Amino acid sequence: MRGTVIHAPGDIRLEERPDAAMTAPTDAVVRLSATCICGSDLWAYRGVEPVEEPHPIGHEYVGVVEQVGADVRNVEVGQFVVGSFATSDNTCEICRAGYQSHCVHREFVGAAQAELLRVPNADGTLVATPGMPDADLIPHLLAASDVLGTGWYAADAAQAGPGKTVAVVGDGAVGLLGVLSAKQLGAERIIAMSRHEDRQRLALEFGATDIVTERGDEGVAKIKALTGGLGAHSVIEAVGTQESMMQAIRATRAGGHIGYVGVSHDVELPGEELFFTGVHLHGGPAPVRRFLPELIDLIWRREIAPGKVFDLTLPLDRVAEGYRAMDERRAVKVLLQP
Ligand SMILES: [Zn+2]
Repeated sequence: MRGTVIHAPGDIRLEERPDAAMTAPTDAVVRLSATCICGSDLWAYRGVEPVEEPHPIGHEYVGVVEQVGADVRNVEVGQFVVGSFATSDNTCEICRAGYQSHCVHREFVGAAQAELLRVPNADGTLVATPGMPDADLIPHLLAASDVLGTGWYAADAAQAGPGKTVAVVGDGAVGLLGVLSAKQLGAERIIAMSRHEDRQRLALEFGATDIVTERGDEGVAKIKALTGGLGAHSVIEAVGTQESMMQAIRATRAGGHIGYVGVSHDVELPGEELFFTGVHLHGGPAPVRRFLPELIDLIWRREIAPGKVFDLTLPLDRVAEGYRAMDERRAVKVLLQP
């Protein structure tokens, strides 16, 4: 099969690799209909995360089940499925509490920019769609695999809902889908923080009511000015840097909630400042599996269209070009067709 390998920062290659194969009776193999490049893949591409040795990459996927292990009961060969980047048994105590991304049997997916993918814990990870989707639904279902699931978790963790003002730090795909999620959860006012006109447009389309272009302390001042000096009830942090995390904390009112889902890079929280804010912090890798049935249903009934975050579609052969486009911010998110 053909699969993507990162050799070093900036060096992405599509290579001929051994076909993905089951290694445990709880595995499945999925033939991918679509995959994509994540903002978090860029950390390695940019050299912020070291690439110790060449390794396969990619963790967002939808496709058709091609093989299942002897112990797999919940999915069948031929079904179209959506899965998450963190596999889960969906039966342990942590999973049953809704934190499947911390499952005691978790294995991360890391070879999904390919034609075939081995999915561990298939029963507790893959969710089948009601039937074979129309082609135009596939990008939306693919978004549910990570960016929508993560944005939704952030909105949920930030307790976005009726009567709430939600501020969203980060205008990448996750931040934009955090806007969509907050809207779906009934938030009254949604403030998107973005300096890019195309991303502002999408944020407004997804339900943002206000746009703030300032960043850092100026951005915080703007949020305060829009919320009677108090700060937002709910803040979604979807970047993962020191600046974005502090912006989120300082833009939240006392007693408010922050859902942080940007993968943290060198973030250090000042204890004393945090102590005096009185805010709730909750986040981390999203338990996408918790939300998948509901998200698939919303997409299947065409009530949400999260796949609009894909503004560039390329054949898998041109994966390196896709990374360049996202790195240079010419694309919000790149869909790859195996
Ligand atoms: Zn579990």
